[in-house]
Amino acid sequence: MNLAIDTLKAQVIAEVDRRRDELVELSLKIHDNPEIRYKEFKAFGRITDYLESNGFALERGICDLPTAFRAIYGSGRPAIAFIAEYDALPEMGHACGHNIIAAGSVGAALAAKLVVDQTGGSVVVLGTPAEEGGVGKAAMIKNGAFNDVDAAMLVHPARRNAATVEALACIGLEVEYFGKAAHAAASPHEGINALEAMVQAFNNINSLRQHIEDGARIHGIITNGGEAENVIPAYSSGKFLIRAQESGYLDKLCIRVLNCFEAAALASGAQLKYKWDDVRYDPMNSNMVMAELFTKNYQILGRSIDPPDPSNGFGSTDMGNVSAVVPAIHPSVSIAPMDVLIHTPEFAVAAASERGHQGLIDAAKAIAMTAVDLLLDSAAMERVKREFSDD
Ligand SMILES: [Zn+2]
Ligand SMILES: [Zn+2]
Repeated sequence: MNLAIDTLKAQVIAEVDRRRDELVELSLKIHDNPEIRYKEFKAFGRITDYLESNGFALERGICDLPTAFRAIYGSGRPAIAFIAEYDALPEMGHACGHNIIAAGSVGAALAAKLVVDQTGGSVVVLGTPAEEGGVGKAAMIKNGAFNDVDAAMLVHPARRNAATVEALACIGLEVEYFGKAAHAAASPHEGINALEAMVQAFNNINSLRQHIEDGARIHGIITNGGEAENVIPAYSSGKFLIRAQESGYLDKLCIRVLNCFEAAALASGAQLKYKWDDVRYDPMNSNMVMAELFTKNYQILGRSIDPPDPSNGFGSTDMGNVSAVVPAIHPSVSIAPMDVLIHTPEFAVAAASERGHQGLIDAAKAIAMTAVDLLLDSAAMERVKREFSDD
């Protein structure tokens, strides 16, 4: 058994190396044509054409999302899914390095394809649009895209090598206040100040902040604060994100945050209108059996897991939603020095650097090798499933 696993892992490593130039080219093409959420048409076209020309069966535009896809090679179970993200950030290009996620998952699938020929089962690439602020995977889960998948993986570029990631539950809230305009000097007593309502809501939230659980976050911006400084603002609007380590606590926190807005409405006399996002990010539930297999494969490639950084908190990802419905991991690969923060122009540069290219090659190899473990070792696949159902 071990010999066969080692032989197949050597095959997937060799296959990723053989395709290195193609994968780097795919990564750079996506990087050089950044497209924001749900508009990732060029990336979608390149990735799907490449997979199709290499023997994958393609379903394009699944789940009513024009830039989502499913690519399958082989048949039956286990079905191991590599997740491709390919959206960029507005104004900043690929400052989250999703070009590396896409090329890494595609490379892993093309290598794992060789394994499926020998072991049976199937390898799937799920193209998931709109990770940045769209929660695209939630729509795909709702439409059943993950129903026939036994395990799901991607590798995100980062500053550290990691097998697991913490990610917060998160929901967005849009708020509007409606007041009454008046001359700001001649007749302010006739006005109802919608901007002051918004400012008061911020102050209420800032007071609440001291009394919330560690790891929770509340942050927002004012998107409209009035038109002229000599007019009492009749309208204000803002956008907020509320995050917590657990979904249950997020529910409770949302009630308290809404109270902050309602209290400001009462105090100011402005009318409050609000809308919670239809979908929210779930916290990431890393499958530790998969994470351990991934770690061993990283070590075979000469990468070791870096210690966590206690000075940094966590964001949110819609892989959290995936991890709620199938066993999943969201490891990371180091492509940038520690002083280069993700979601910055400097990180976008790193995502197209030599170090970024090496990161995507190692990422592709490591998740392809983890797929070898799951396709060949049914006991490992059972442990993955047992951990998931016990959670
Ligand atoms: Zn991001
Ligand atoms: Zn990202």
